[in-house]
Amino acid sequence: MGKSCLRPLGFIALHTPTSRFFSTSTCKVPSKPVGEFLKLCNKGSLKEAFEAFKSEIWSDPTLFSHLFKGCIQTHSLSVARQLHSLVITSGCSSDKFICNHLLNVYAKFGELRTAVALFGVMPRKNIMSCNILIGGYVQNGDLESARKVFDEMGERNVATWNVMVTGLTQFEFNEEGLGLFSKMHELGFLPDDFTLGSVLRGCAGLKDSQAGRQVHGYIIKSGFEFNLVVGSSLAHMYMKSGSLGLGERVIKAMPIQNVVACNTLIAGRAQNGCSEGALEQYNIMKMAGFRPDKITFVSVMSSCSELATLGQGQQIHTEAIKSGVSSVVAVVSSLISMYSRCGCLDDSVKAFSEREEADVVCWSSMIAAYGFHGRGEEAINLFNQMEQEGLEANDVTFLSLLYVCSHCGLKNKGIELFTLMVQQYGLEPRLEHYTCMVDLLGRSGCLKEAEDLITTMAIKADAVIWKTLLSACKIHKNADMAKRIADEVLRIDPLDSASYVLLSNVQASAKRWRDVSVVRKAMRDGGVKKEPGISWLEIRNQVHQFSMGDKSHPQLMEIDRYLKELTDEMKLRGYVPDTGSVLHDMDVEEKEYNLAQHSEKLAIAFALMNTPEGVPIRVMKNLRVCCDCHVAIKYISEIKHREIIVRDASRFHHFKNGICSCGDYW
Ligand code: ZN
Ligand code: ZN
Repeated sequence: MGKSCLRPLGFIALHTPTSRFFSTSTCKVPSKPVGEFLKLCNKGSLKEAFEAFKSEIWSDPTLFSHLFKGCIQTHSLSVARQLHSLVITSGCSSDKFICNHLLNVYAKFGELRTAVALFGVMPRKNIMSCNILIGGYVQNGDLESARKVFDEMGERNVATWNVMVTGLTQFEFNEEGLGLFSKMHELGFLPDDFTLGSVLRGCAGLKDSQAGRQVHGYIIKSGFEFNLVVGSSLAHMYMKSGSLGLGERVIKAMPIQNVVACNTLIAGRAQNGCSEGALEQYNIMKMAGFRPDKITFVSVMSSCSELATLGQGQQIHTEAIKSGVSSVVAVVSSLISMYSRCGCLDDSVKAFSEREEADVVCWSSMIAAYGFHGRGEEAINLFNQMEQEGLEANDVTFLSLLYVCSHCGLKNKGIELFTLMVQQYGLEPRLEHYTCMVDLLGRSGCLKEAEDLITTMAIKADAVIWKTLLSACKIHKNADMAKRIADEVLRIDPLDSASYVLLSNVQASAKRWRDVSVVRKAMRDGGVKKEPGISWLEIRNQVHQFSMGDKSHPQLMEIDRYLKELTDEMKLRGYVPDTGSVLHDMDVEEKEYNLAQHSEKLAIAFALMNTPEGVPIRVMKNLRVCCDCHVAIKYISEIKHREIIVRDASRFHHFKNGICSCGDYW
């Protein structure tokens, strides 16, 4: 419920020709030039304006409206109250036009009780009075009262529908909002651009591109297609529902581009996992002369986190500083995440400490950053500090904390926090929280408790939560349970390659070869392909990517040779390749070669060859690091005296002097 997206109550058409509403008073020609009066009002010198033009105001009460507008502009509620008494003493309190203005002032200031009281005694209410009251309720987040006024109105106009539909979608009552919109459409009321924008945001919230398409059809027919607000919302809707291409087409077809359009495009790409495209668009935007704003920075920073391109992230950080938005809370949060996900926890801490203000998101980001790097104690200390400072943790904070506990093996602390969240904070756990708890219990060997949690929770289990338990079965080598749990996963998601791989790994490590071949056959028959492992790293602002079997890297021959020598040295120190989890029917040598070709090993070898001694190596991987690579990297860190930081699909591993920060627990 972002207050920032509240639209100004522009629907109250203050510019409506006053004579229509002001029929009771006689409009005399003012004796002094009204221009002077308006100037004073606009400047906010309301008392001065009032004193100087007293007689004009008495003869033409419509002039009150300018004073009211001045009150809103200068945030002077007390002046509005004084004007209110004047209205009463001057006998204008039955004037519909003036009353509506007063009502609007109170609604704008959030003085709803006064507004409702005034509304109650207004002798001649019209549709506009109701619209103003509805708008006031919406602005203050009281949708229920807004809806009540709406439902009880005998007659409504287009502004009534617009304000109600907008209000509902603003507060994410998306289905209700869409329902009302189609009713509005049925009855022949024409939505304005703000309403269409809101309706599209509603579709985006529901990820309902089908409804969105219908709205799109209407937009084309009604000629709103090239409206900037509508166009950006339409593109956002498509992108949010996963149709990146359609969204881009809408944006690019717009005759005028602005920062909002650029941001929509960048955010759409970032959210659809097209991080490189987002960064590319960012550069195009700058070249076209648009100044990135805080929204832009949040999106591009998240793309840098995703790609873990530290160099680019640092550059964008510098640009955010130059633009003067680097200490805006949302930007600080994305800086914390970016540095953390690029492996530079110290820079996250620095960004957090340099914050000018911080909200709960900021704190949660820092807690998550610690968790990502296995620093459980710091994360929990931060949470305690947060509580001491009186900031109320939300469900995201707890999600970060539970994640921390499961990744640091803090079982009891995790259970304690989960209980705290439900009982003290009264927060309803989401599937993600349960998944963290299953991870926590599963990792610490409480497989039965973890399964019980899944089967007894109030929410329907998804493939991810079962898969989490499946991983735990693998860690604890429980082949029987693994089989049963894998069935659960595959019932929900029959094409999930990771589960097949996990299951066959469990069977392989239990030396149940017959079961391994059954799984492999099932995979082949079902057309399931294993997601290829990809590792990448950034050296001197250039990203190098490696995957097994990909022969495109120009230095591959040298890397091969380097790895072979390295492996020999590792073996001298006691390294034994863990061929148990290699799936293929091969002889030992082939299996070993296969292992040596794992993408993270290639990437690390490449980094060792191309960076000066002593410089830490940062490698990213799309899947989890396998056991063999984990062992191997520990040896490499020792032999080469290098700090090697690997970010895999689930966490960070800091390898140093033959030890990993995860404590072999991932
Ligand atoms: Zn590996
Ligand atoms: Zn590790």
